[in-house]
Amino acid sequence: MQDLMTEEKTLDQNNSFGVVVVGGGVSGTAAALVSARSGVRTLLIERDTYLGGIGYTGLLQHICGLYPNGETFPTGTLNQGIVQEIIAHLAKLSPQKTIKKMGLVYVLPYFRRDLLSVFDSLCGNERDLTVLRATTVLSVEKANTEITGLVINRSHTAYKIFPRVVIDCSGDGVVSEMAGASFELLPQEQLQMSACTVHLKGIQDRDELLAIKVSYYLSDGVRKHILPPLLRFSTFTPGDSPDEGYLKVNVSGLQSKDRDKKAFEYASAVHHYLSNMIPVLKGSYLAGSSMRVVDREGRRVLGEYILTDDDVIHARKFDDGIAKGAWPIELWDMHKGPVYRYVRSGDYYEIPLRSLKVKGIPNLFVAGRCISASHEALGSTRVMGTCMTLGEQAGIAASFRVRNSMYSRYGNESLHTSL
Ligand SMILES: Cc1cc2nc3c(=O)[nH]c(=O)nc-3n(C[C@H](O)[C@H](O)[C@H](O)COP(=O)(O)OP(=O)(O)OC[C@H]3O[C@@H](n4cnc5c(N)ncnc54)[C@H](O)[C@@H]3O)c2cc1C
Repeated sequence: MQDLMTEEKTLDQNNSFGVVVVGGGVSGTAAALVSARSGVRTLLIERDTYLGGIGYTGLLQHICGLYPNGETFPTGTLNQGIVQEIIAHLAKLSPQKTIKKMGLVYVLPYFRRDLLSVFDSLCGNERDLTVLRATTVLSVEKANTEITGLVINRSHTAYKIFPRVVIDCSGDGVVSEMAGASFELLPQEQLQMSACTVHLKGIQDRDELLAIKVSYYLSDGVRKHILPPLLRFSTFTPGDSPDEGYLKVNVSGLQSKDRDKKAFEYASAVHHYLSNMIPVLKGSYLAGSSMRVVDREGRRVLGEYILTDDDVIHARKFDDGIAKGAWPIELWDMHKGPVYRYVRSGDYYEIPLRSLKVKGIPNLFVAGRCISASHEALGSTRVMGTCMTLGEQAGIAASFRVRNSMYSRYGNESLHTSL
């Protein structure tokens, strides 16, 4: 981890940065790395004490969205660049984790601790990157249409930061909202379901059918009014060793005040019920849980283009396409459960740069989960593989804008572009 004292000193001495990235999830870390590598002084601000966002907090096991779909086993990634670098580092740490077919798509299994150490080490190697963990953006200052300052809270002290360009990788579009950008946020009951995952240990003689049995008994429990209806969409996935697994409890409509507590109560209730119904789970126990409820969907910030489900399903390409996606539209609906719509086999769609450019605020970009996309299109773009590339591309665009505006101040107008 980067030395916190060094970080504080940087803050006190010079609070001006070319690019400030808010949110150190998979998209924000990629954005910050790429921006710093272009020689632009870059700051990455993360609320938690660790990087990785949902990729770490959510107890996930697979990186989705990295590979083409179709019958042929993938020989490479759909996008080039940062995803290839990250998965090469992951492979060095855990070579046993290799591409896996899941239904009609391909995923990369990973250990979340590996993701954390890859992100820490890549960020630690960048001279032009400062990472502030345990730091929260509180407010945004603007002059005319541009962001001129961010107020951040670090160790109960407020600091003011002066960015030239900001990238909102907060997952929930919090900076964009503070900056007055337009966004779409569906009512709770129409949002994709959120989730809390618990790690189970002590499973005896786990068999191949356990995931199916879990689904069956949950539906049965709901039908008999033993469990609330939404708990029928909880899922089980096996862990690496035969005595472990992950129970993902999908929830919806919980009030923000105590939703983590409530979701954990649901998870405990599901585990208790299943332990009584399925003999191999009898001696199992909760060995850990996701640190908080994690959201599949929040604010979708309005950009210069809104990616639609039509674009995704019909594999549309754009002149300013900067990222490829082939993951299906995967919607976790609180009434229907997961519903999938697939991109044509062997094909992919593109996400245009305009979906990362926030409408009306020229020095603000978005990347990751909060890009400008419809509710349905987000069902595909939100997976980690795609989010990393979106972060990378926002980092390229933001640092390009900083470098070009520096040149244009010295009179070289020809370098001033629409970025
Ligand atoms: C239940 C569930 C299961 C999923 N399963 C998979 C899967 O198996 N495979 C897959 O590839 N994808 C999966 N996803 C999707 C994927 O994990 C996320 O969409 C993706 O990780 C989002 O990355 P991100 O960087 O956009 O945002 P996030 O990971 O949400 O990161 C945003 C970061 O911003 C920080 N932040 C927020 N506000 C502030 C602030 N004011 N100041 C400072 N920092 C702030 C947060 O702490 C967080 O670290 C799943 C998602 C969910 C919810």
